[in-house]
Amino acid sequence: MKPTSTRFLPVADAALDSAQLQRALTTATGRFTAGRLAAGAELANWQSLRNQGRAIREEAIHRLDELLLLLEQNVRAQGGEVFWARDGVEACTYITDLAHRRGVTLAVKSKSMTTEEIALNDALDRAGVTPIETDLGEYILQLAGDTPSHFLAPAVHWNRDQVAQLFVDKLGIPWTQDVGTLTRAARAALRRRFLEAGMGITGANFGVAETGTIVVVENEGNVRLTTSAPAIHVAVMGLEKVIPRFEDLEVLLTLLPRSATGQRMSSYVSLLNGRRRPGEPDGPTEFHLVLLDNGRSRILADPEGRESLYCIRCAACLAVCPVYRRVGGHAYGWVYQGPIGAVLTPQYLGPEAGAPLPFASSLCGACRDACPVKIDLPRLLLHQRERVVEDVVKRHSGFGALGARIAGWFLQTPARFAFAGALVRTFLHLTGTGRWLRNVPGPLRGWIASRDLPKPPARPLRDLVGK
Ligand code: SF4
Repeated sequence: MKPTSTRFLPVADAALDSAQLQRALTTATGRFTAGRLAAGAELANWQSLRNQGRAIREEAIHRLDELLLLLEQNVRAQGGEVFWARDGVEACTYITDLAHRRGVTLAVKSKSMTTEEIALNDALDRAGVTPIETDLGEYILQLAGDTPSHFLAPAVHWNRDQVAQLFVDKLGIPWTQDVGTLTRAARAALRRRFLEAGMGITGANFGVAETGTIVVVENEGNVRLTTSAPAIHVAVMGLEKVIPRFEDLEVLLTLLPRSATGQRMSSYVSLLNGRRRPGEPDGPTEFHLVLLDNGRSRILADPEGRESLYCIRCAACLAVCPVYRRVGGHAYGWVYQGPIGAVLTPQYLGPEAGAPLPFASSLCGACRDACPVKIDLPRLLLHQRERVVEDVVKRHSGFGALGARIAGWFLQTPARFAFAGALVRTFLHLTGTGRWLRNVPGPLRGWIASRDLPKPPARPLRDLVGK
C-alpha cells in the first residue's frame, strides 16, 4: 500500500462531509468500545492482566535479539525455513522467488497488515502470481480496488448496500441485502481458490520463541484453510511480534480479543508449528517464516519511541480516538491508523511523510486508557511532534535563519517594533470588512477556518497605556 499520509487534511475534510462514513464509523467504533468495556468488566483481574501484558511486551522488546534467535532456532528445528528481511523489497523478493521456484501462480492470503505494509500483493502481481485475499473484509476491498481503513475491520467504511452492489457487479449474484447470502457468495467464490492455490500467506499475531510457534487469531476460518490447504505456508511477521514463552499466550490471548472486538476468545486460534510431519493427514509440506525488520530496528534504537513496538494491534485506541472516529482510516494515508498509526507511520516512513499525523490528536488520553498493554500513546505522540518539528527546522534552516534575522531587526528598537505592528495591523484590516478576520492568506487561513479571531484594534494597547 503506497503511503499518502501528507494528504491527511483533504481526506479528513471529505470524510467529515460523508454522512454514510460518519454513520459507519459511529456504529462500528461504538460497538467495539462497548464490547471492550463489557468484556473487560467481566474479569476482576482485568487491570492486573493489562499490567502483565505490558510486562510481557516490555520484556520481549528488551530481549528482542536473543528471543528472535531462539525463535529461528526452534522454527528450523521443526523443519521450517526462516528468512530475515531487512525491508519490504527483500521480503517480497524472497516470497516471489520462492513462488517461481515452486511454479506457484496463485496464492491465498489471510488478513495481514504486515503484508500490506510491504505492498506484497503488488509484488506478487508483478511477479505473475495472483494473490487472493480470503478475509471477507479484505476480499471486498480487493474486488473493489479499495484499501483498508481499519487494521482490524478493513472494510469498516463499506455498508451493506455497497457490498450488495459490488457482489452483483463482480460475482454476478442477484442483488440482496441478506448478510448470510452475501457471505455464502464470497465463501463459494473463495473455497475453490484455497484448493487451487500453491501458496498460503499469513501474518502472525505472535511468534513464541521457546517453542517456535506462530500464532494467528481470526474469526472466519480462512486462516485455517490458508495454512493447511496449499502446499506452502509463508508467514510474514514483524520482528516485534516475538514473545518469550508459550504461557504468555494465556495473558495476551485474553487481552487481545476482549480489547479488539469484545470477544472472550477469537473464533479460531491457530498455533502453527512448522510443516506437516510424517503421518499427519494435512498441513503444508513447506513452512517459511519471513522475519521483517523494515524500520523496526530503527524504532528499537530510539529509547523514547520503542514503546510503540509493544503494540498487539487490537485497534482499541482507534475506536476511542475522537479524531479517528470522525475522519476514518484513509486520512492516515497508510496501513496503520488512529493514535498508534499516528505514532508508527512517521517512525516507519520518516517525519516528513508522516508529518501531519502526530498533530491529529487532542491528546485526550482515551487511547492510553483503552490500550490493553498500557502504551502511553499521548507521550509517544508528543515525541513524534518533536521529531517532526526538528525535521522541519533542519530542512528549512536557511529560511528559518532568514526569518529570525528579519524578526531580530524589528525587535531591536521600540520604533521598529511599533512600525512592524502598524504594518501587520494595516495588512489585516485590508483582508476584509467586519469585526472578524475571515479572509487571510497562508497557514493562518486554516487556523481561523474553525475559530473566530477578531481584527486587531486600530490603535495598539501600548499607545492607549502610554497616554
Ligand atoms: S496501541 Fe494499544 S490500543 Fe492501540 S492497537 Fe496497539 S495495543 Fe491496541
